[in-house]
Amino acid sequence: MHARIEAEFTGRGPILTNLPRYEKRGGQLEMALAVADALTSETNLMVEAGTGIGKSFAYLVPLIYWTLKEGRKAVVATGTKVLQNQLVAKDLPFLADHSDIPFKFEVLYGQENFFCRRRAGMVAQYGLFDDPDQASELERIATWASQESGVFEDYQEPISPGLKGQISRRSEACLRRNCTYYVECPYYRKRRAAEQADIIVINHLLFFAHLESAGKLLPEFGAAVFDEAQRLEQVAASYFGVRLTSIGLSLLCSRIYNPRRGSGIAPKLPGFPALKPKLRALIEETRLAADNFFMNIANLLKPYETKKRIRAAGCVPNDLEQPLDDLSGFLFEKAKDTDDENLSFELISLGDRVSVAKGAVVSFLDMADANSVYWIEASDRNDRVSIHSALIDVSEMMRNSVWNQSWTNILTSATLTVGKRFDFTAERIGFKGRTLWIGSPFDYEQNALTYVGHDLVSPKHEAWAERMPQRVGELLKVSEGRALVLFTSYATLNKTVEALEEEVSKKHTVLVQGRTSRNVLLDEFRFDTSSVLFATTSFWEGVDIPGESLVMLVITRLPFEVPDDPRAEAILEGYRRQGKEPFTAYQLPLSVLRFRQGIGRLIRRDDDYGVIAVLDSRIVKRAYGRLFLDSMPPAPVVFNLLEVQRFFENH
Ligand code: SF4
Repeated sequence: MHARIEAEFTGRGPILTNLPRYEKRGGQLEMALAVADALTSETNLMVEAGTGIGKSFAYLVPLIYWTLKEGRKAVVATGTKVLQNQLVAKDLPFLADHSDIPFKFEVLYGQENFFCRRRAGMVAQYGLFDDPDQASELERIATWASQESGVFEDYQEPISPGLKGQISRRSEACLRRNCTYYVECPYYRKRRAAEQADIIVINHLLFFAHLESAGKLLPEFGAAVFDEAQRLEQVAASYFGVRLTSIGLSLLCSRIYNPRRGSGIAPKLPGFPALKPKLRALIEETRLAADNFFMNIANLLKPYETKKRIRAAGCVPNDLEQPLDDLSGFLFEKAKDTDDENLSFELISLGDRVSVAKGAVVSFLDMADANSVYWIEASDRNDRVSIHSALIDVSEMMRNSVWNQSWTNILTSATLTVGKRFDFTAERIGFKGRTLWIGSPFDYEQNALTYVGHDLVSPKHEAWAERMPQRVGELLKVSEGRALVLFTSYATLNKTVEALEEEVSKKHTVLVQGRTSRNVLLDEFRFDTSSVLFATTSFWEGVDIPGESLVMLVITRLPFEVPDDPRAEAILEGYRRQGKEPFTAYQLPLSVLRFRQGIGRLIRRDDDYGVIAVLDSRIVKRAYGRLFLDSMPPAPVVFNLLEVQRFFENH
């Protein structure tokens, strides 16, 4: 296997030489050989592969050789849909077309992404629509599903969210082999295809759902690759928590029975008139208890708060558990009594969801898990209130349920290290195994420049918010727009846009996060090559804009975790209890990782060039700034705008 890999990544193999822009990259071969070693020795491996290595091929090629040699399956789990699509629509088809050994791959999604013909038939039969237009919408979807994949992902039009929830697969409402549509069912067709595949592409969430289902969702596999592994901790922490919203619970009640409109599933039951008084009372009791529960929750927030950590059990009276229990019990009982199989399964499904809501309420109020953090959220007008929990420390769970299992794990990402060390990431997710760092092959010394606004006051100083926008304006003049300006808060973003928009928009299109969807913003930014995009948290990663549209990346402030985030706060407390200094042990390394994700937006291809402008002078004035500087790509560092100007004149 190693000889074939070596031949492949040195331009002597049958596959990669067919790539239109393929160039030999030392780092790619090094990574591919390390992945092959890990697979053959069954040792877990974590690889940081700098941007431009071509890491997906560096793990896919050895994975293909290994699956075929061993006759075992591998799963590849991604953190984002973008990468999942790239693997399934580009990389794997290319490898399948050019590989000298045949292999099969398949993509699997969560069950909510699959059209369920049985449930859809029932919705149509009983007219369970939120509005009459949904009848024709469902007809179009059903026709499409009968001819195409039946995976909503592939449907070209938007689907009404209420309808989608009613016609997608739900485990507890699925008849499985007893279903009339089992053979052509999109979900089982995919499952059967996955059984035949060598490589199965999923996302991180589905991997955790597989763990939670005690290994029932995926076929048996011998290797798991986690790409975008920097996201694993957050995904695991929220997956194993709870979330219940006032709106979700209200909608669930309406699906069962809405006495005012006479709608919901219940009126379709034979003998409904006899059940009506009891069900009406149950629904009204549940709604009243839910209203009180969420009102009490909202009252725990001060007028200016939208989020608050809950520190003691029983923060509000538990008057909701019993009505939810009564309601689910009633639904399960009626499910047994009805002869209509479709209605019966739908009642079971609704009863199950009510039961899950009850579990969330109990778990939230009891706060029995010392390794979970609990909090509440509400919209400004308190019309959307929710309760939440998440795991604080996922390391032990990950160690027991993932790293110490029988399969081999490969983790990769462009940002896993702090100062080229894996300690922080490995500790956060409890990873045990080999680590490998491979730098980016891009020529940062020639093609990039780091500018530091060293003369600006610290962002902790009030004057920074006044002076920083002015410096952004100066940088945008030098780069002639073509910039992504990253913030750590909406408040500063809005103030900066307010200060600059009039002037900047005379020459460039000004794009601002929040004014339209992320995809539309990124498309406009990509196609309007002199535009400027002002954005915050979610744009620090996953933005891939090569070429002239992005030659100036402004990091306005070092991205330290907001200390009032409940989970971050709980993590900091944990470090304090262990006698560790939370800033050094957690906030600083986490901030360095985010900073690296941000600066990774600039150079995406070997012919890209540009300036990283850091407007947080703490990077050179505070001792910890060294860790940020040491984690940056090797571009020359300058402190003068004239040098930035000279850089652009030369490129
Ligand atoms: S097998 Fe399950 S998911 Fe598929 S159509 Fe039947 S009930 Fe729906």
